[in-house]
Amino acid sequence: MSPVKMRLLQSLPLLAATLLLAGPAATAQTTSVWHNKQCAVVLTYDDAIDADLDRVVPALDSLKLRGTFYLIGSAPAVAKRLPEWRRAAQRGHELGNHALFHPCDGSLPGRAFVTPDNDLSKYTVGRAVAEIRANNTLLNAIDGKTARTFAYPCGDRQIGGVNFYDQLKPDFVAARGVTGGLQTAAQVDLSNVDCYAINGQNGQYMIDLVKQAQQSHTLLVFLFHGVGGGHSLNVDLAAHRQLLRYLKAHERDIDIAPLVEVAERIQAYQQDSAARK
Ligand SMILES: [Zn+2]
Repeated sequence: MSPVKMRLLQSLPLLAATLLLAGPAATAQTTSVWHNKQCAVVLTYDDAIDADLDRVVPALDSLKLRGTFYLIGSAPAVAKRLPEWRRAAQRGHELGNHALFHPCDGSLPGRAFVTPDNDLSKYTVGRAVAEIRANNTLLNAIDGKTARTFAYPCGDRQIGGVNFYDQLKPDFVAARGVTGGLQTAAQVDLSNVDCYAINGQNGQYMIDLVKQAQQSHTLLVFLFHGVGGGHSLNVDLAAHRQLLRYLKAHERDIDIAPLVEVAERIQAYQQDSAARK
């Protein structure tokens, strides 16, 4: 055997050991706040539409995945299908709060769809707070739960420059906004959680977002409206299924849960970090 080959063979165990050490650490770095997985992914569905119960809940249940459904208390699909929402909650889905009447700020550009009755800019802060609390009462009557999250209708957070959610913080674990972004547990603002709104993007786009979250050990929240139709903002049914299949296949690396559960862990993590300072 040549001296070169000899040296190579002698160095092999060391090389193997180096690879073993570097391998898992490089590919499977985990975070305790994400249940010792690489990242957290939350699936949220807004506006309480029939498509949620007809297509989304069955798709999630078939893969034993759970999501968050932001219910508008006055939506026809709530009034007509109350027992189905209750069963969805019993199977672990979160019924989140999207206000009773989905008020949006009609004074902003592009808000011709806002009716005078549901114009947040004409609300007082007290009325918005009371309406959202009344929706919590309704949701509690459906699912019996007291901990849940809120989603800002149209992403509007202010009335006359006042953040109305400030008064609602004791009523919720977190509030989801509409700004796109991936954030670590330390970075997340629980009163305005970032998300990616999906409207027409394909499955690969969504899977790439999940991969980015896996690499950066961050929280990724998806915001869907219609799945396979049912809303003016939609995602293709096959694209949605492609995302769910990817998540299921990587369940060991990705913490997939309703926002209320992930936000409760972020809250504890942030409180612990603050206490250590
Ligand atoms: Zn909405």
